[in-house]
Amino acid sequence: MLGVNYFLGFVPSTAAPLAIGAGIAVLGAWLPDIDQNNSTIRQKTGTARGQGPFGCMGWIGSIFAAVLGGHRAFTHTALACGLLAAALLKFTPTHWRGYAIAFVVGYVSHLVADMLTEGGVPLFWPLSSKRIGLWR
Ligand SMILES: [Zn+2]
Repeated sequence: MLGVNYFLGFVPSTAAPLAIGAGIAVLGAWLPDIDQNNSTIRQKTGTARGQGPFGCMGWIGSIFAAVLGGHRAFTHTALACGLLAAALLKFTPTHWRGYAIAFVVGYVSHLVADMLTEGGVPLFWPLSSKRIGLWR
């Protein structure tokens, strides 16, 4: 418990920061699938296929996903995770750093979960395009 408190940087007698950290971890776990048209994060942000007036938000989301290389491409790499972690730790105020770590933990959990699927993820791209997964 002390380790959790250290990383989340909150007073042990309150549960609210832990709940907030858990919610932030869920957001981090959703983020890698921003490259998929009907993912939870795209639906929640109104950028899933067909959303917005005349579906324009869906189109914007699709273009953004294509720029990212399509589903399970850049956002599912250790490089993307590392860049995200570095940016969050660099630009997050010290007293909120635990939330940044929670976000990255959520992101990593998504990559691990996708590695448990048949499709795997291109974890070491651009060094290797081989998809890493338990069933590969
Ligand atoms: Zn994914």
